[in-house]
Amino acid sequence: MLDYPNSYYIESLDRDLIHYPSLSDSDSCDLCIIGGGFTGLSTAIEASKNGLKVILLEQNKIAWGASGRNGGQIGPDLSNGVEILEKKYGFEVVKNLWNLSLDAVRLIDERIEEFNISCDKKLGNLTVATNKSKLLDFEHEIEYFQNKLDYHQTKILSKAEVSEAVGSERYYGGHLFEQGGHIHPLKYALGLADAATTLNVDIYENTKAIKISEERNHVEVRTAKGIVKAKNVALCCNAYLEEIDSGIKNRIMPIINYMIATKPLNQALQKTVIPSDYCVSDTNFDLNYYRLSADKRMIFGGGVSYSLKHSEVLAKKTEKRMLKVFPNLQNEKAEYIWGGYVGITLNRVPDIGQASRRIYYAHGFSGHGVALTGIAGRVIANSIHSDEKGVLETFEKIKHRNFPGGRLFKMPLLVIISTLQRMTDIFNA
Ligand SMILES: Cc1cc2nc3c(=O)[nH]c(=O)nc-3n(C[C@H](O)[C@H](O)[C@H](O)COP(=O)(O)OP(=O)(O)OC[C@H]3O[C@@H](n4cnc5c(N)ncnc54)[C@H](O)[C@@H]3O)c2cc1C
Repeated sequence: MLDYPNSYYIESLDRDLIHYPSLSDSDSCDLCIIGGGFTGLSTAIEASKNGLKVILLEQNKIAWGASGRNGGQIGPDLSNGVEILEKKYGFEVVKNLWNLSLDAVRLIDERIEEFNISCDKKLGNLTVATNKSKLLDFEHEIEYFQNKLDYHQTKILSKAEVSEAVGSERYYGGHLFEQGGHIHPLKYALGLADAATTLNVDIYENTKAIKISEERNHVEVRTAKGIVKAKNVALCCNAYLEEIDSGIKNRIMPIINYMIATKPLNQALQKTVIPSDYCVSDTNFDLNYYRLSADKRMIFGGGVSYSLKHSEVLAKKTEKRMLKVFPNLQNEKAEYIWGGYVGITLNRVPDIGQASRRIYYAHGFSGHGVALTGIAGRVIANSIHSDEKGVLETFEKIKHRNFPGGRLFKMPLLVIISTLQRMTDIFNA
């Protein structure tokens, strides 16, 4: 079993960690969930509320994957732009997906309240334009939100307003989602696990699902020490999905993204960086995203590795990226550096659906999973409960293709595409 990485998140927990047992015998249930991140925990909570007997298996620790390591940024995002989706799938599908992404943002607040989860939640999610053309895109996007989607809790910030909100002169303007915000992701995930436990979900850590086989009336999930016989299975392994993939693995590509946390900033510095306390991300393909923690550290993310091997050099570069945005933090070295797998799909829309009659899955949140994983869990749980597709159908309308190049060559191809995209950002800046 792998332990949590040495991140700011694990070090700043204000509670004891619960150590869940590992599965030591065979058992049966209505739903066996594989993966103990946001998606698995959300599915567990909703299925249990629907009256199902639920077993959740996590190969390491709860929220050991992306859910315990991410930037904590919450926004109603779906992909590289909802308007692009309309051209392909029509307005009805886009409107439904947009409403689901708003529900996803609200669901975080509902769960914080319902289960009394303390996770440092703050409001405001700001995207900042790194060139003039991106600002024009924002204006166009806002028109679409307001006139077509009837969504008004968003506005453009001028260059001066962004400098005031962020403390950096380098941006051309911004796009503020007032309902968005940020959380301490590990505190939130552990709060969801507490909630699942009170709802009688059986959680097992240090329990890897090594084989799943679908029989006529059930699915068998094999682990090192026992077999779980389940009426249904939900694969919630995201970028960590390996051999138990049921044919869906090539639709997502794992990439490594890095984050750092400085020491708490002194009051003078605090006033100069992110005075608004929003979370911020920029419009570059290889983006920077950042926010202040509850104890006023700069939590800064950016820098992608496609090789899936941890790169100390790349990790250190995240600090340099921070200094480019905030040169006045030159004496604030990273106290913590960590990385994690982000699962992306080709079109950057999450891939949620049914792999077969009894096997459900949700993955590929493409860097937007803090909120969307919550709704993914609800949609899967409701579909299993009612034995009808329901809202799952909306997600299944979005067709996901395998990454070109198959298992051996998808990585080099993605590197080429990403390099081209990054060059476009450099030339437009
Ligand atoms: C560095 C970083 C920054 C990010 N920043 C943001 C952000 O600011 N905002 C945002 O919206 N999104 C962000 N994301 C993405 C977001 O974290 C993910 O979309 C989300 O956490 C996915 O949750 P999940 O439960 O699907 O997957 P995960 O949290 O990765 O959980 C999958 C779990 O499945 C387990 N597992 C895998 N295989 C097995 C098996 N065979 N048996 C048992 N268990 C298994 C793994 O151990 C893992 O714990 C970021 C991701 C990273 C890595």
